[in-house]
Amino acid sequence: EAEGEKFEFQAEVSRLMDIIINSLYKTKEIFLRELISNASDALDKIRFMAIGDASALETKPDLELRIQANKDKNTLVIRDTGVGMDRNDMVNNLGTVAKSGTANFMDALAEGQDLSLIGQFGVGFYSIYLVADKVRVASKKNGAEQYVWESTADGVFTVVKDPRGDTLGRGTEITLYLKDGAKEFAKTDVLEGLVKRYSEFISFPIYLEKSYKEEVEVPVEEEEVESVTTEGDEDEEEEFEEVEVSDDVKTKKEMITKTVWERVNTNVAIWSRPSSEITDEEYSNFYNAFTKDTVAPQSWIHFKAEGEMEFKSILYIPGEAPSDLYDTYYTKTAQLRLYVKKVLISDEFEELLPRYMNFIRGVVDSDDLPLNVSRETLQQHKLLKVMAKKLTRKVLEMLRRLASKGHTSEPDEAEEEEEEEESETKKVVDNEKYIKFWETFGKSIKLGVVEDMVNRAKLVKLLRFRSSLEGNNWTSLEGYLSRAKDWQKSIYYLAGESMEAVQKSPFVEKFKSKGLEVLFLVDSIDEYCIQQIPEFEGKKLQSISKEGLKFGDEDEKTVKSREKYYKEAFASLVEYLKTLFKGKIKEVAISHRIESAPSVIVTGRYGHSANMERIMRTQSI
Ligand code: ADP
Ligand code: MG
Repeated sequence: EAEGEKFEFQAEVSRLMDIIINSLYKTKEIFLRELISNASDALDKIRFMAIGDASALETKPDLELRIQANKDKNTLVIRDTGVGMDRNDMVNNLGTVAKSGTANFMDALAEGQDLSLIGQFGVGFYSIYLVADKVRVASKKNGAEQYVWESTADGVFTVVKDPRGDTLGRGTEITLYLKDGAKEFAKTDVLEGLVKRYSEFISFPIYLEKSYKEEVEVPVEEEEVESVTTEGDEDEEEEFEEVEVSDDVKTKKEMITKTVWERVNTNVAIWSRPSSEITDEEYSNFYNAFTKDTVAPQSWIHFKAEGEMEFKSILYIPGEAPSDLYDTYYTKTAQLRLYVKKVLISDEFEELLPRYMNFIRGVVDSDDLPLNVSRETLQQHKLLKVMAKKLTRKVLEMLRRLASKGHTSEPDEAEEEEEEEESETKKVVDNEKYIKFWETFGKSIKLGVVEDMVNRAKLVKLLRFRSSLEGNNWTSLEGYLSRAKDWQKSIYYLAGESMEAVQKSPFVEKFKSKGLEVLFLVDSIDEYCIQQIPEFEGKKLQSISKEGLKFGDEDEKTVKSREKYYKEAFASLVEYLKTLFKGKIKEVAISHRIESAPSVIVTGRYGHSANMERIMRTQSI
């Protein structure tokens, strides 16, 4: 082997490799998933580059992955015809530059998280050392020479021009010299099982070299002939040939080993398949594969848009919210995987969904968008607006169905959701799946009510609140109205700091005694959200902590005369209180909406409520 230029792994990388080996030894097989995923990324990259320059593929026209094991030598070779790496890429990507993911991986380790999805930290390559004690990476990038990277994971690696010259054409060949404890990975049946599992959603063909024992008829070499044949003896050879050409060739059966390349995956993209043929498990696995999330999704919608523009999509609601979802709210929009004519344009394409839907993950595949433009110009493309509008409506449709039926999987016909919405019977009891969604991502819907005027009516129906009658159950506005008194003109709410605070509020008492329900708005954004909804199905939304409240069951005349009586009776008290609190309060008034508390402080009809003022002081969403 040629003497290479020697490099030291960056200290973090060395440490990382030790940690990987020590923490993931129980799930060694993940190395294969990481290598397949890297190969697939490299293939995506060259396919993307070929958009601008079709000749990029000439060095190796087929985009594919090949896996070859050698049981005798205990090696495993994984070859792709992807973009490849030049010398600098190898030095930088495979060892010296610790990526930001390194630190995250270390943190996750300290927190005791599941590390087996090592790929999400961007350090998947190093999982090779779970099974190999030596690794050789040969790679050829267009316009560069073929180089070899090699390391035994002992803190150093070498990089050298490949003495074999250009054997790859284009792409990367990774040879693993398997450890004693990992010899099973040189067995084709073991590999086949793993490749099938990990390549389910890889859109390039993956071939595995398989060997078959086959029975063949071979000519029997005559005993006498064999016994007299000696090397270099021309006479004997003549005699041997005579036997071969004779009419009466004797044959015998013999087992021989043949090798063939067998395609292991079917690369029909899951979103292109009819949804009736896709199991929930497949949907869920696909989500985990492309998001690298370890938790199963809560729900999804799979559809084909037709009309002005055609595209296919699967949109998912993740199982859990990322912990920084609302902290990064103003800097992060939804990021979908966008394919144009089967080419992955971006795995984080923005602007396809409004900001408040930034928790949604998914794939979008369209043949109608132009391929020959840069990502920046694509972002300006007018068809994207059409797409975004449709995607937004589909997310809303998924949520609506989740609430009414707990639906997950959806038929992929381009159905008219608008019509269906009308015909759907109103349901006031939520499916438990929607409750789960609400408790994870409810704040996003509230932000949507504030930000999305166009879809506000649909979003309002997705809102849920606690209330004085429902206790800890969530209610929708529709649910509230289904329990409302027929004379009730308003939907009442009270905003406060906590459930405890609103439940004990003296304002609520009178409502309870009249059997009226009060919505409790205890999330800081609730009140701001509800202010965007002046009315719902003809009923005003009314804060019970504001001046001028009417119940709707009062007989105007008695109320007036009662008011007049109390006003006169308490006139001097009112005057006294006014001078007592001068400058601190605006008005002292006789009220008929409190039950046992002697007095309450209310806010002016047109001012902010006390709760709103509290929020504005803290300036949080
Ligand atoms: P990630 O895939 O998240 O970037 P990895 O540790 O798996 O992290 O890979 C490190 C880098 O090595 C990749 O980003 C890529 O630049 C390079 N690389 C790995 N495998 C290949 C390959 N088969 N072809 C081209 N480049 C590769
Ligand atoms: Mg990777």
